[in-house]
Amino acid sequence: MSSDQSWKDKYFRELESAEQREERWKAERNTLERMLVRTSLASAGLAPELDRLLERVRSDLRKNRVDVDSWRKLQEQIDRQVALLDDMPARSTEKRPGPPAASACEQTSDSETADNVDFTIRQRAVESEGQRLRIARRVGHLLGQLLGQVSLEPDAETAARNLQRALLTSDNWDELREGLDQVADLVIAAVTRSQREFEAFLKRLDERLEMLQEHVSLQSSAQSGRQAAAEKLDRNIQEEIQQVGRHIEASTDLQELKQSVTSHLESIGQMVGRFRVEETEREKLLSGQLMAMQEKVAVMEAHSEQMQGQVRKERERAMTDLLTQLPNREAWQERLSFEFNRWKRYQYPLTIGVLDIDLFKRVNDSYGHKAGDRVLQLVAREIKNRLRNTDFVARFGGEEFVLLFPETAPEDAQAVMDKLRVHISALPFHFGGEPVTITFSAGLAAFAPGDTEESAFERSDRALYVAKDAGRNCVRVTHSASQCNP
Ligand code: GH3
Ligand code: MG
Ligand code: MG
Repeated sequence: MSSDQSWKDKYFRELESAEQREERWKAERNTLERMLVRTSLASAGLAPELDRLLERVRSDLRKNRVDVDSWRKLQEQIDRQVALLDDMPARSTEKRPGPPAASACEQTSDSETADNVDFTIRQRAVESEGQRLRIARRVGHLLGQLLGQVSLEPDAETAARNLQRALLTSDNWDELREGLDQVADLVIAAVTRSQREFEAFLKRLDERLEMLQEHVSLQSSAQSGRQAAAEKLDRNIQEEIQQVGRHIEASTDLQELKQSVTSHLESIGQMVGRFRVEETEREKLLSGQLMAMQEKVAVMEAHSEQMQGQVRKERERAMTDLLTQLPNREAWQERLSFEFNRWKRYQYPLTIGVLDIDLFKRVNDSYGHKAGDRVLQLVAREIKNRLRNTDFVARFGGEEFVLLFPETAPEDAQAVMDKLRVHISALPFHFGGEPVTITFSAGLAAFAPGDTEESAFERSDRALYVAKDAGRNCVRVTHSASQCNP
């Protein structure tokens, strides 16, 4: 039956999309684990005991040995260590260490020594504060990357954005410490949401399969009922006909024979009549079942479309950078592989580029993080609008963007980038009433024989450094050994 085939195709497709979701979930989990590892590395060197506990976290993750109960204990131990760290500067001010033993040549007075000790303690406190702020900033960046890759409920998303902002901008340690705790909650929320959605999806798939099975078994039992009835009718008619035959052979009386034939014909007629009635009943039952089935199928189709739309939306979301609405790093990796394979096959020129906003930290420092975000959004919009449809741009992270120019030689890509550079440097940015010039530097490289995705990318990154070294606000190209330098 052709509808069987279409059901089969549909279910294969569903299974394939289930596998893709599982892959995505694994990738999300992998990202979360990587984030945990990075966060733990970022916190390294604060205290030996904390280092030991964090190494255990990394080792468990490496060996895929995350046991919830033992991790709960581990978390308590880590909390204790972090609390001890929090107390450190306060304790060191309370219990001032005695003055260091003065060497023979050091002629320091008592008050000078006390001043030195005071200064050292204050300096340590400032260093420790700085270290904590650095950690919070790093966690803020990692959280930003995480948010680009996983989807949260809208409320959690807003909370996460605010949290990221606080981690990147706030200097208040109490607020930051609370923020770091919330990051853990968000990570858990992101994982459980993906898991929940996947479970719901599998449940729906299971319901559909069950319904399909029910339909097939109803059909086949109706079919076998009909076949049995037809066989019975056939047998009965054969029997009646044989009896008529026997009577014809045995009978000599024409009148009796006529009666016998008439009664057998009546009997056959009744049997056929009964069969018809039963057949009509069966038809009615079957068409009722078919209609119910059609209704269920229509509901399922609607569900399926809704689900596909949801999967499509989620995929788009997972591939888009929230701040700039440009494709994100995941999307970049996918496109880079696609263009790289096309380049390997067709060998047309392919140029890759990295663009980095110049002295962007100053924008944040002078006008605030919000102004920085606005710059990123506007620059992203301008890049997108000024590139051809076949070119590709993604936000790589922070104030860095990556580009692909298919079927474009590096000199032509450089001309495009230079035009873009001049255009951006002339944009009338204003912050706090002050005109601000925004520029970028960029590095380009053409794919050359023997290149991998990474080797060409690294060459464009080197070109970016050359551009920065040359004083910024310029575009540079590096060539591979196999390409001749102009
Ligand atoms: P250079 O010309 O050498 O590239 O200098 P730079 O200041 O641009 O480079 P640096 O790497 O020192 O600073 C990048 C800054 O970008 C630091 C970081 O706070 C900021 N940043 C990264 N992501 C975001 C973001 O999403 N929003 C905002 N506002 N700032 C961000
Ligand atoms: Mg940068
Ligand atoms: Mg920069």
